[in-house]
Amino acid sequence: MTAPQIPMALLAELTHRCPLKCPYCSNPVELIRRSEELTTEVWIDVFRQAAAMGALHVHLSGGEPASRRDLEDLTEGARDAGLYTNLITSGVGLSEARIKDLAARGLDHVQLSIQGVDPETADRIGGYEGGFSTKMKVAGWVVAEGLPLTVNAVMHRQNLDRLAETIEMAVELGARRLEVANTQYHGWAYRNRFALMPTEEQVRRGGQIVAEARERLAGTMVIDYVTPDHLAKFPKPCMGGWGRIGLCVTPRGTVLPCHAAETITGLDFETVHDRPLAEIWSNGPAFTAYRGTNWMPEPCASCDRKTKDWGGCRCQAFAWNGDAGTTDPVCSKSSGHAKVRAAAMAEAAEGVDAFDYRSF
Ligand code: SF4
Ligand code: SF4
Repeated sequence: MTAPQIPMALLAELTHRCPLKCPYCSNPVELIRRSEELTTEVWIDVFRQAAAMGALHVHLSGGEPASRRDLEDLTEGARDAGLYTNLITSGVGLSEARIKDLAARGLDHVQLSIQGVDPETADRIGGYEGGFSTKMKVAGWVVAEGLPLTVNAVMHRQNLDRLAETIEMAVELGARRLEVANTQYHGWAYRNRFALMPTEEQVRRGGQIVAEARERLAGTMVIDYVTPDHLAKFPKPCMGGWGRIGLCVTPRGTVLPCHAAETITGLDFETVHDRPLAEIWSNGPAFTAYRGTNWMPEPCASCDRKTKDWGGCRCQAFAWNGDAGTTDPVCSKSSGHAKVRAAAMAEAAEGVDAFDYRSF
């Protein structure tokens, strides 16, 4: 077994509740109900445990974390534990007063999602009328409060042609960073892949637009952009490597190496009620299953990139190969690569517009 490093960041999925219904939501298709959510006290204990393990950041995420009325107490608890606090939010559920209170209680950073560049597009994609105008107000309140703002724009076939406007909007909102996040095709997004998968031409143009904007906006705004998996030559280092630098706790307290890990059947996931976080991180069976490089089959085992991308995404390997212990099929060295690419191209060509919205 490879010895674990210290986890740098904790992704705290405080709730799966959210007023929006994004068809690409990264939450699982089986959503966790409010009655099962961890209490304020348990969450704060989780933050303390994570900090004691050496974690530096907590991402307060969801669902929509503002759906929790104790978000302010949780933020304060995380700050008191010594963690840098990043709120990942749709903005819906926040008010100017709440943002001021959150800042006063120790919130360090806000990551605001946007679904489109005009109300009609954004509200249709998010499945929530009035969401766009709320987001615009929230961005203004965050910047006025002096909190650093990151805009997160999930891109797909139905908004990628407006990437240049998305970049301009992030600048106008005062964002210091823009994450151009190409949709990851798990869960809800997999269900909606025929409506979301971009064409090769859209992705090619998107890459050019980002390259030009990065040059023009150097020193003003940082732009993160990663080529969609099926068009990349090599996979991304999913979560920086399985059980290597980050961990996720779900609303009911299940401790995961990655937020999508529960899609892999056959792994034994423990909860914060079972034993201390540090023990789960060090020797929990789900964490040790694919940590490091010992688990790797060929072509990963003899590949000089194996400590760069850590064999890619285990969930993707499971979804396509039925075995999470195989090479991520988006890798061009994998025998499954051509199949993944062909499927994505066929999905993009379908041209379906209707969404199957996320719902409880
Ligand atoms: S992706 Fe959309 S539906 Fe899912 S939590 Fe975020 S805002 Fe809510
Ligand atoms: S063979 Fe494995 S380690 Fe090498 S690039 Fe592909 S996924 Fe990464």
